[in-house]
Amino acid sequence: MSNKVVHNFYAGPAVLPASALKRAAEEFYDFAGTGMSVMEISHRSKQFEALNNEAQALMRELVDIPENYKILFVQGGASLQFGMLPMNFLTKDQSADYILTGGWSEKAQKEAKLFGNTKVPFSSKETKFNRIPKQNELNLDPKAAYVHMTSNNTLFGTQWHYIPEVGNVPLVADMSSDMMWKKFDVKKFAMIYAGAQKNIGPSGVTVVIIRDDFLAKCNPGLSTMLSYKTHAENNSLYNTPPTFGIYMLRNVLAWQKEIGGLAEVERRNHAKAKVIYDAIDAHPNMYKGHAEKDSRSTMNITWTMPNEELEKKFHKEAEALNMLGLKGHRDVGGCRASTYNALPLESAQALATFMHEFAKKNA
Ligand SMILES: *Cc1c(COP(=O)(O)O)cnc(C)c1O
Repeated sequence: MSNKVVHNFYAGPAVLPASALKRAAEEFYDFAGTGMSVMEISHRSKQFEALNNEAQALMRELVDIPENYKILFVQGGASLQFGMLPMNFLTKDQSADYILTGGWSEKAQKEAKLFGNTKVPFSSKETKFNRIPKQNELNLDPKAAYVHMTSNNTLFGTQWHYIPEVGNVPLVADMSSDMMWKKFDVKKFAMIYAGAQKNIGPSGVTVVIIRDDFLAKCNPGLSTMLSYKTHAENNSLYNTPPTFGIYMLRNVLAWQKEIGGLAEVERRNHAKAKVIYDAIDAHPNMYKGHAEKDSRSTMNITWTMPNEELEKKFHKEAEALNMLGLKGHRDVGGCRASTYNALPLESAQALATFMHEFAKKNA
């Protein structure tokens, strides 16, 4: 383990649990008694197959994923899912609903337009994506092929705090930046996808959870690797999967289980977000939260400051305290603290303390 104390607020790839890294270091040269690292063994070996199954089983247990859902580990990031989803489930004579709550939602919609029509039940673009819609603001199309939502908006710092009712239309969620931040009702979704590198692992592996009846509707005639059916029918082992990524994902999930499951992960996430939001709210002349209060994200906390000079000073002093990755996304400006699952409470507390002191000194 590194002895240098850093507070890692990067938005992604992001902080991983120290115990998951330590385990990887210990097992690096000898995975599961093979005398080789996990990167050096066949993905058809019984050791890797066991690992692949263990990662799936852990996720199934932690989230409580019913048996009629497949868990897939694929490559290409969440960005490839933006394209695969409409490629598999939309046709030229159909329309899909895209709820626009941030830049990632817009990118997802852009891909869908290549394969069919899209409608927008709600967009908060006019107010710089600072909020999540209420149920009664959703102008849903009952004939849509599916409804797409982004559960947490990484750039703008907003998050859904309820699962919308969409009738009989399949609901699909991009959970890349808040996957497994707490327990949620998988049964409300036809499909969920998440790039692992924010909340549950390293880059290179993307999780897809897909319900069997939705899977059955995949469009035929797709390139083999771009069809969900290929990955579902082959337990994600049609071709060589991202073996080290899956290994790290397993370590992260094992850590979640060890600390008490998603109830404990959620408790920690609320505690971390609270100290930082409290610091923002305590100094309204210095920090202005970007998100409306009831849309605030527990994963990405965004705020602006009175002027660029103060912002620069803030970033410089934070960096000197080894608080890294606090620069806001260019679409919002200001600051963003990502407080993903693996961020220790101490880091959130250190940032909050610094924010209080900075506000007092520069009042
Ligand atoms: C980061 C992110 C993406 C893009 O993920 P890649 O794995 O880099 O393609 C998509 N959606 C959300 C919500 C994200 O935070």
